[in-house]
Amino acid sequence: MNMKWNLDTLYTSFESNEFLNDIKELDTNITKLNSWVEKELIESAAIQDNNAEIGNIIRKYLDSYINIRKLYSALSSYAELTFSVDASNNTAKKYTEILEQKLPEITKATVKFTRWISLVKNIDKVIKNSGLLKEHSFYLNEISNNSNYLLTDKEEVLASKLKNTGSNAWSQLWNVLTSKVKVDIEINGEKKELPLPVVRNMANDADNNIRKNAFYAEIDVYKKFDEAAAGALNSVKGEVITVSELRGYKSPLEMTLINSRMDEKTLNAMFSAIKEYLPVFRKYFKKKAELLGHKKGLPFYDLFAPMTKQLVDKEDNESELTFTYEQAIEFIVNKFRDFSDNLADYAENAFENNWIDAEQREGKRGGAFCENLHVIGESRIMSNFDGSFSGVTTLAHELGHGYHGHCLKNESFLNSDYPMPIAETASIFCETLIINAAIKNASETEAYTILENSIQSDAQVIVDIYSRFLFESELFEKRKDSSLSVKDLKNIMIGAQKESYGDGLDQDQLHPYMWACKPHYYYADFNFYNFPYAFGLLFAKGLYAEYLKTGNSFIDKYDNLLKETGKNTIADVTAMMGIDIQSPEFWKSSLELTAKDIDKFISCAG
Ligand SMILES: [Zn+2]
Repeated sequence: MNMKWNLDTLYTSFESNEFLNDIKELDTNITKLNSWVEKELIESAAIQDNNAEIGNIIRKYLDSYINIRKLYSALSSYAELTFSVDASNNTAKKYTEILEQKLPEITKATVKFTRWISLVKNIDKVIKNSGLLKEHSFYLNEISNNSNYLLTDKEEVLASKLKNTGSNAWSQLWNVLTSKVKVDIEINGEKKELPLPVVRNMANDADNNIRKNAFYAEIDVYKKFDEAAAGALNSVKGEVITVSELRGYKSPLEMTLINSRMDEKTLNAMFSAIKEYLPVFRKYFKKKAELLGHKKGLPFYDLFAPMTKQLVDKEDNESELTFTYEQAIEFIVNKFRDFSDNLADYAENAFENNWIDAEQREGKRGGAFCENLHVIGESRIMSNFDGSFSGVTTLAHELGHGYHGHCLKNESFLNSDYPMPIAETASIFCETLIINAAIKNASETEAYTILENSIQSDAQVIVDIYSRFLFESELFEKRKDSSLSVKDLKNIMIGAQKESYGDGLDQDQLHPYMWACKPHYYYADFNFYNFPYAFGLLFAKGLYAEYLKTGNSFIDKYDNLLKETGKNTIADVTAMMGIDIQSPEFWKSSLELTAKDIDKFISCAG
């Protein structure tokens, strides 16, 4: 089986006529759109009651805008995908940078159109009369509503320019600080200087001394740059507060929710269910602490300690959970087929047509991702398959993203984009299918390890994410009045962890510097980049619970749900499945799945 992907359906090379012509066409279309907007988009046309004329203008704009976005997407995907598996490809790098500058060239035109459309008084009537407009009704209404938050043209330009020397620069500084800093650490009597991510990864080490030393060395290293990181954080959050106030949002949280097409009632329902289940997670942390010989709850450094069960017989000992690539494919496709033919066919097709680059090789980026190429109705998946079980679940996860794109294949380009909280639904759903199937097939010891691993990662996404939400809420609240010192930030973080983890963690062994190590706090465009993770996990699990309850009748509804994610609010799209995400009951049914796993783990652990 070929473990490299093939991008020929996009372009055959950077030198090909198709690629070069598309770049030219993109430039021409951008120029055309800009001059059309300047000439034709006069305010009076919107205010007049000439619905037919207004409809024509919107159609022209949509055609031209969609065309630009599609060309841009094909070109930039080709450059980015090529670069992601070949860091030494300078042509790919050059085109990525060239293309990055193209989209801002239409910002002024899109802002102008947004402002113009908000002046149309009876937009619903206009939309009703045209197929193309009806198809884009959600999109048009959304930009029209969001136009309330636009600043004046001059302010918009100023804000976007100042961002480069403001939040973007601070975020860049944080990046440099954390990527350049070296951690002093002693491993087996040998002194070393290691990058921060390497030392943080040691939290997964089987050796408890390594985990503990790595943790203390990590905490020590933050002292080298905590003043600078705090400065960056205060500046990023300060800018967000200023801009969101100026735009007229009640708070940065309101801004985030609107951008996520989500409402506060849903957020509160989710968190109230999470709060109710915190004691269940604490039971798990305490059990893990006990198994590792701790008396006062789990120290932070042992959160990720791998758990293996005392082996009962020798045969079990020899069974290792490893897969060849072919075995992984077979396992995934078979288990997907138990769920639905559509999903299995999609995966089979992806493997057969070389949509997946799974080989580990030099020059390739780490980790894994899926890129849905709506413009050609295909997807590409990058992973670094290492034969481990987590390598298999990663593939299943990314195939889930790809299947989401597959369900959106026949939607308009502008209806194929879905908001952050719903982005992880299909991926986690597929992962859950595979994990549950694997537990069924595994030996006792394997099943124990898989189960603990899955609880461990759920606990991160629920309990740790909750602490991050508490931290960020308090940070925004206090930052309104003045900047916060390193000591303030550490105290808020410790307070948030105590409230979230409770007595599950050793209260003297917490992590006061989580704000200095997580990139999410430093993105000015993505505030509260925490609750979407909890939403994604619990929503996918809730769907899985629904599937277990209703069986095959669930499958068509599931495909339809994915298809609708690009053109509805989250509450509306979930209501189509008969799920009320504004009620805590739905979230509790998801949490109950992990609660059952925790009970199983505790009884297996003895
Ligand atoms: Zn994902």
